[in-house]
Amino acid sequence: LADKLQNTFRKLKGKGKISEKDLKDAMREVKLALLEADVNFKVVKDFVRQVSERASGAEVMESLTPAQQVIKIVNEELVRLMGGTEQRLSISSKPPTVIMMAGLQGAGKTTTAAKLGGLLKKQGKRPLLCACDVYRPAAVKQLQIVGGKLDLPVFAEEGCTDAVKIAKDGLAHALAHANDILIIDTAGRLHIDEALMNELKEISKEVKPTEILLVVDAMTGQDAVNVADAFNKELEIGGVILTKLDGDTRGGAALSVRAVTNKPIKFCGMGEKLTDLEVFHPDRMASRILGMGDMLSLIEKAEQALDMKKAEELERKLRTQQFTFTDFLDQMEQMKNMGPLQNVLGMLPGVNAAALKNVDVDEKRLARIEAIIKAMTPRERDLLDKLTPSRKERIARGSGTGMNEVNALIKQFEQMQKMMKQLSGGMSKKMKKNRGF
Ligand code: GDP
Ligand code: MG
Repeated sequence: LADKLQNTFRKLKGKGKISEKDLKDAMREVKLALLEADVNFKVVKDFVRQVSERASGAEVMESLTPAQQVIKIVNEELVRLMGGTEQRLSISSKPPTVIMMAGLQGAGKTTTAAKLGGLLKKQGKRPLLCACDVYRPAAVKQLQIVGGKLDLPVFAEEGCTDAVKIAKDGLAHALAHANDILIIDTAGRLHIDEALMNELKEISKEVKPTEILLVVDAMTGQDAVNVADAFNKELEIGGVILTKLDGDTRGGAALSVRAVTNKPIKFCGMGEKLTDLEVFHPDRMASRILGMGDMLSLIEKAEQALDMKKAEELERKLRTQQFTFTDFLDQMEQMKNMGPLQNVLGMLPGVNAAALKNVDVDEKRLARIEAIIKAMTPRERDLLDKLTPSRKERIARGSGTGMNEVNALIKQFEQMQKMMKQLSGGMSKKMKKNRGF
């Protein structure tokens, strides 16, 4: 496993036995992080259920280092979700092996056709690129340029607008010139439409590709999944190439595409350079996802900071509607234990740390609220003494604030109480239900 994950393991301190609640909280963090990373909702749901099932088994509960066990399971399940092991390109026993690229416009088909040719050439193959995008004016030229940079021959027919014919002629050309690989670049559209699918089907019928590779732009997030699903229903897709994994993509597409189409991701595009194509390694991607946004240290922090006993006590109080200023203060303490709010937010995947600099997390206000509550007597905090004007004045003076602020806090607190009263009936039922895994 990659360094990031190793670090996380090291960071994790041995925790004693963990309760089902610990686990449930951790799973909620995992779930949020995956959703933040743009993973398909249904995929997340299945994933979390799978991990929870395994994690609530004896393997974890009886273990001396349960937190690490949970991470191990999360990692293993991520790898499994992305296909387990690396998947090779299908090579035809009877050359040439015909590879057909399919995908939307701008996904990276033309670039990737050349990249793949370059990769195979390095392995001693003799690839021929075939320019079948007859719609985009400069498409043929583009393939010739990128092919030329890698010293790859490119088959094209000037002026011909029949993509099926070009593909057929390209195949004949490959046979005649002993090219053992034929990579067919095709046209894309901005959206999936019937004309595009029909043309791809026609080409496919004519040249019988060994493998159709679906090129998907990882940066398009949820859309990538829909696109992959649509192509997969129409064509015999053999595998997927995820492009643009180099940007600050959240990696969610990799998880969802594989899970939704059930087709292996074979390669990934890692940059604009023509050498930036890599075999897709599920385990490396899992590490990347786990390392992202420092998700695991967030889970760890949440585990440490939230005192479970206190959380349960709070739940009881909510149910019996005895929420007091003391509880309010407790809650604030717990939040503070997780560190500055800005840091906590920054650990969430998908949250840009730089952008947070502009967010005004009002910690000063929190400090003043705390001061006010601390200036109350214990009886006042527990609502045993009514807060008369003279008491309020004393509190304002004691906390170095003003009457306005004291009144504002009390008002806020009363609103909170009211809200909890309304919620508490339904909430306790739901909380109990959520307990069960
Ligand atoms: P096509 O319409 O599917 O043929 O897409 P192109 O091959 O023309 O690529 C569209 C754009 O995406 C080009 O500017 C490429 O340089 C860029 N591109 C393709 N693959 C990658 C990749 O893996 N990473 C990055 N950063 N850019 C890529
Ligand atoms: Mg193209």
